[in-house]
Parts: sequence; C-alpha cells; structure tokens
Amino acid sequence: MIRAIGFDLDETLLYRSASLLRFIRHQHAEHHLAQKGVSLQEWCDRFIEWDRSGYVGKDVVYSRLIDHFHLNEYTVDVLWNEYRNHFHRFCIAMPHARHILHRLKTNEMRLALVTNGETVFQKKNAEALGILPLFDAVFVSEEEGRKKPDPELFIQAARRMGVPPEFCLFVGDHPVNDIQGAAAAGMQTAWLKGLSLWPQHLTPPTVTLQSLLDLLPLLEKRKNAFETTA
Ligand SMILES: [Mg+2]
Repeated sequence: MIRAIGFDLDETLLYRSASLLRFIRHQHAEHHLAQKGVSLQEWCDRFIEWDRSGYVGKDVVYSRLIDHFHLNEYTVDVLWNEYRNHFHRFCIAMPHARHILHRLKTNEMRLALVTNGETVFQKKNAEALGILPLFDAVFVSEEEGRKKPDPELFIQAARRMGVPPEFCLFVGDHPVNDIQGAAAAGMQTAWLKGLSLWPQHLTPPTVTLQSLLDLLPLLEKRKNAFETTA
C-alpha cells in the first residue's frame, strides 16, 4: 500500500518546457532583440537546443547565445540573473498537477518534492505554482549536497515523510534520475511518460503514467485497503 508519494519538479509538476518558452519569449521582447537582428524563432530554437531540457548550465547557454547572435553589449551574468530572478513569474503547472496534489493531501498521503537544481530557484518555482505548502518535505540537490539519482536522497525523503521506502511511490519523468534512483532506494516508481519511449536497457518502472490523473486510482486502492483493515 502506498502511504507517501515523492515528486520530481521539472516536467512532472512544473511544465518546464512551456514555462521556459514563455520566459525566453519575454526576454527576447524585453531586450528588443528583434531590432538587433535576432529573430524570435531563432532565439527560441537555439536556447531550447543548447539548454537540453535544463541539463546544461545557463551560464553555458547564455554564453553560446551571446556569441552566436553577436550580442556584445550583454554579459552572461546579466541574462542569467534575469533567468534566476524572473523565471518563476512564467511558470505553468503540468496538467492536473495542483488538482492531484490537493486530492492526495486531502486523503492524508504524505508528500515530498525531490528535485535537482539550485535551491532558491527551484523553491521559488514551486512556490509560484502554489504547491510548496502541500509538501511535508522538500529536497533540492544543491541544499542537500547530493543529487538524483543518488538513492540516499530518496531514502532521506522517505525518512522525512516517516514512511519506509517500500511504501513510497516516486513520480518523475526522467528514467534514470527519477525512476532508477528511487528504485535503487527501494521505492515503487511511476514514470510520467512524455513523448519518449522507455529506454530498453533500463529496468521498467512499477507503473507508467500517461498523465498525473493516472495517480487517482492509487487513492482508491488506499481507501479500500483502509476499509478492509478497519
Ligand atoms: Mg523532471
């Protein structure tokens, strides 16, 4: 029986790809980059390509953008600080994320957020979505000094939720960082399937979710389990 659920943030609860597009379009407009010969399409395409779904540091991304578009009057720090300070204003939740978290919380499920990234940045993004107060525990890799897929991070999350790992479910979109990491910690796993297929060489997740709504049947099972043991 599942008694606690851990969640990844980017592309699981936070619709990062859509949020990023909103932010970089804003940055393009804010600096009148079209008037400096940078087409909006090209700016977005290059950013998204070089950002590699957030797995490349923004210092590297902005440095490449400045070189590529000959934006010599800009420094990496100026653009990167804008990203750090304003990205949260453009954050959009994944479909059904808030609804699901509220339902889980109402049903007394213990909840944890476990994300890689910079502490202040990631917490601000979760806060902007209005979901931060719903978690019993929040783990951000920078603050913890270890990052997913390190199983120890998942074990600590389980401990903080007061539930043994085998009664925890971890929900995430990344096959290795989320699913392999949580499985190595002894958790059950739910892979939120995007457009990609499950990598054949990896052990499959416990369940595959087409959308976060697929978590709701777990609540029903939990309710039934309560009823049968009452
Ligand atoms: Mg993710």
